[in-house]
Amino acid sequence: MTIARARSRTAAYSLSLSVLTLAAGVVSSGTAALAADEVNIYSYREPGLIQPLMDAFTKETGIKTNVVYAKDGLIERMAAEGANSPADVLLAVDIGRLTEAKDKGVSQPFKSAAVDKHIPAAYRDPDGAWIGLSQRARVIYASKDRVKQDTITYAELADPKWKGKICMRSGQHTYNIGLLASIIAHEGAEKATQWAQGVKNNLARKPAGGDRDQAKSIFAGECDIAVGNTYYVAAMETSDKPEQQEWAKSMRILFPDANGNGTHVNVSGAVLAKNAPHKAAGEKLIEFLASPEAQRIYAEQVNEYPLDPGVAVSDRVKAWGPLKADPLPLSEVAKNRKQASEIMDKVGFDQGPGA
Ligand code: FE
Repeated sequence: MTIARARSRTAAYSLSLSVLTLAAGVVSSGTAALAADEVNIYSYREPGLIQPLMDAFTKETGIKTNVVYAKDGLIERMAAEGANSPADVLLAVDIGRLTEAKDKGVSQPFKSAAVDKHIPAAYRDPDGAWIGLSQRARVIYASKDRVKQDTITYAELADPKWKGKICMRSGQHTYNIGLLASIIAHEGAEKATQWAQGVKNNLARKPAGGDRDQAKSIFAGECDIAVGNTYYVAAMETSDKPEQQEWAKSMRILFPDANGNGTHVNVSGAVLAKNAPHKAAGEKLIEFLASPEAQRIYAEQVNEYPLDPGVAVSDRVKAWGPLKADPLPLSEVAKNRKQASEIMDKVGFDQGPGA
C-alpha cells in the first residue's frame, strides 16, 4: 500500500498504527484541494489534552488541523514515510521523544522570534530542532487516608518501609525513564540501579496502566503511594467520569525533593517535520502554541505549567502548592535515557515485586 496522507481527525488514540494509516488513507481522498488551509499533526499526546489547543488555533487562523494520535511509533512512522510523510508537526510528551525526533532526522530546524519571545532558551533546542511548550512535574500521589507525611523524596521510595505499598506504570514508560535518567545524572548509575531495585521491591503489583490507573489503585486500597504527572490529577478532578473524580479525591500531591534537588520536571513540545508539506502552516501552529493565548490554554485547560514566564499557572495547580523544579538541564536527562532503560531491564522492574 502506498503511504497514506494523514487526514484523520477521528482516529482513536489507542488504535494500532496500521489501522490509523488505513483510516487516514480513506479520509484523505478528495480533500487535497484544501491542502493550503490545513496542517497535519502527529501527536503522542491524548486528544483530550490537545483538542482545546487545536480548536483555538483553527478559530484564530482558519487553518484546519488533522491530528493522528498514537501512543507509540509516530517517529518511526515519520522516518519510514520519509519524503512522502504527510506530517507537518509532531507533538511529543517528553524530552526523550523530542530529542529522538532530532536524532532520527525527522525534524527540521525552526527558529522564530515569536517563539523565542515567549519560550525561554533552556526549553528550546539550540539548533531549533524542537521547542518545549509546557512543563509538568513527576510527583508522588499519596493516599489521603494512609499517608500522613507531608514531604517525601524520590530516594525514600526505595526504603523498605514502603514494601508492598507503591504503584507505578511501566518502568520503560518514557516518563519513568526520564525520572530515572535524572537520578543517574544526580547520583550516578550505581545508585540509580539500587534505587530502581529498591522501588521494584516495594511495588504492590506489577507495573501496569497509565498514571491515572495508579490513582485508581490508591482509591482501591491496592497501594498507598504512586508516581504520576501533575496534569493527570487535574484531568481526574475535572473528569466527566465520576469514578475518576473519586480517584483524585482519594489522594493528594507531594512534591518530592522540594528540600533537595527539586522535583523532576519534563516538557511537552513540538517539532517541525523535516518534510512538512504545509511548512508555513506548521510554523504558524508552533508559533501559536508558544503564544500567550495557547500558553494560557496549557495552564487553564490542560493544567500544566506554562513555559512563558508571563503566563500564570491555573488556580487549581496553584492550590497544590509551590513547585520547586529540578534545574537539571533536560539535555542531561535525555543523555541518560538509554542507560535508564537498561537499568529498568536489568532489575526486572516490569516483572513486579518478588520476581
Ligand atoms: Fe501524559
